[in-house]
Amino acid sequence: MQDASQVLSRIFGYDSFRGEQQEIIDHVIGGGDALVLMPTGGGKSLCYQIPALVRPGVGVVISPLIALMQDQVDALTALGVKAGFLNSTLDLDERRVVEAQFVAGELDLLYLAPEGLASGSALRLLERGRISLFAIDEAHCVSQWGHDFRPDYLALSVLHERWPDVPRIALTATATTATRTEIAQRLQLTEARLFVSSFDRPNIQYRIVPKNDPKKQLLELLRTEHPGDAGIIYCLSRASVEKTAEFLVQQGIDALPYHAGLDAATRAANQSRFLREDGMIMVATIAFGMGIDKPDVRFVAHLDLPKSVEGYYQETGRAGRDGLPSTAWLTYGLQDVVQQRKMIEGSAGDAAYRRGLAAHLDAMLALCETVQCRRVQLLAYFGQVSEACGNCDTCLVPPESWDGTVPAQKLLSTVLRLQRERNQRFGAGQSIDILLGRKTDKVAQHRHEELTVFGIGTELQESEWRGVVRQLLAQGLLAVQGEHGTLALTDASADVLGRRREVMMRREPERAARSSGSSRK
Ligand code: ADP
Ligand code: ZN
Repeated sequence: MQDASQVLSRIFGYDSFRGEQQEIIDHVIGGGDALVLMPTGGGKSLCYQIPALVRPGVGVVISPLIALMQDQVDALTALGVKAGFLNSTLDLDERRVVEAQFVAGELDLLYLAPEGLASGSALRLLERGRISLFAIDEAHCVSQWGHDFRPDYLALSVLHERWPDVPRIALTATATTATRTEIAQRLQLTEARLFVSSFDRPNIQYRIVPKNDPKKQLLELLRTEHPGDAGIIYCLSRASVEKTAEFLVQQGIDALPYHAGLDAATRAANQSRFLREDGMIMVATIAFGMGIDKPDVRFVAHLDLPKSVEGYYQETGRAGRDGLPSTAWLTYGLQDVVQQRKMIEGSAGDAAYRRGLAAHLDAMLALCETVQCRRVQLLAYFGQVSEACGNCDTCLVPPESWDGTVPAQKLLSTVLRLQRERNQRFGAGQSIDILLGRKTDKVAQHRHEELTVFGIGTELQESEWRGVVRQLLAQGLLAVQGEHGTLALTDASADVLGRRREVMMRREPERAARSSGSSRK
């Protein structure tokens, strides 16, 4: 039997373990259960692959990433590791071959989709072989809060009941305490040793900018900072994925679309071009990316606001796995907030579920509107204390905060007057037109020029007013309601209107962070 460091060098060709890999591997080889939280690119795979090679029997890896199993198995086979997989893409004959290899103990690793476990067919197969360990990859899929929830994962607790002596290692890049607790409980891993790696990705520069003209802003990012670089651009909807990819291609940029509405063959072809060709850009919904191991993704851009900090961190974590400087760039605007609030309001699920979604969105908004270091705030969200990083937009060009109490009062009283005096609700645009004293058709139609607030807000420009609305929404001092996204007061609004509360706001720096000497080109 070889020991772990021999396997590391002889089979995988690496000289040393990274981070906590060695401790994790020793623990699992010794028969212990483990819950491993490590950022994307941290090197989770070796944590189960090496114990599977060292311990007698077959290591069974449960993974939801069916589309990647073939690639993973091919990569292992190329290293001389005996690996196979079982999922719905195999036909009956192929399946029989792998099953026979497993039962005969001819495999080191067997990758398994979680589907069969609940039905029992996979369990009956597993009982016929000798198992060295269970690895549960992407373990956050068991969490009902996350956007990756897979009901089949709930059945995985059966593994412990049937094979109490086989060590289990659950791995994920999602790390909030809530998710961690949920994973441990649902997978019966409360007794498992917990390994939490630092979540910092120092080579990623985080930047969040106001959305003015997103296409133009994106193009500038690509042309000035990342020409010819590989990257991922996330959009919220399939339609905007298509449009953005088309736009980039028209501009002579190599971009491919990826979303769940494309047929499987197109998705597979685009994914494989992205992985194999240099400098490809994938424009995608969040359906793309889990398990993608491409080391030289130089940027991840978000054209729409992510629904949670977890999602944002996981998506941006796909940049710079090779450790070289990379950019995480997000543009967001008032419309994003309105749209997401509407989606939450219209979502299926009970009130508690919607409150959960709203809390996730609020944390994301707080990150967007922060005046402190983005990384400090991100890591704090994952329970880690750190110092200002010097490599994010707020560190590079510190935004000023300003006392926005008076504008906040003006805006809130406009909403209040429309509500009280006219029994009317409007979106942000109408309130801003009123404050700016604009005599639009809609203003004339509703005789809004007669309101006492008409024209009292000319000290700010329209874009600044939109920023005020955005920040009031982010701070919970204003709400968005209904399918038209109309503005409404919240309980907290009264404190601002009653002068009992000050409102500090973030002023966007004049220059973008990239002009501060941090750019690569
Ligand atoms: P994760 O699953 O945590 O996202 P992977 O297991 O895919 O990360 O590893 C990320 C990259 O780091 C891979 O290319 C892997 O080969 C490499 N890697 C992992 N461990 C080591 C190590 N000890 N030394 C060098 N490279 C490593
Ligand atoms: Zn910083």
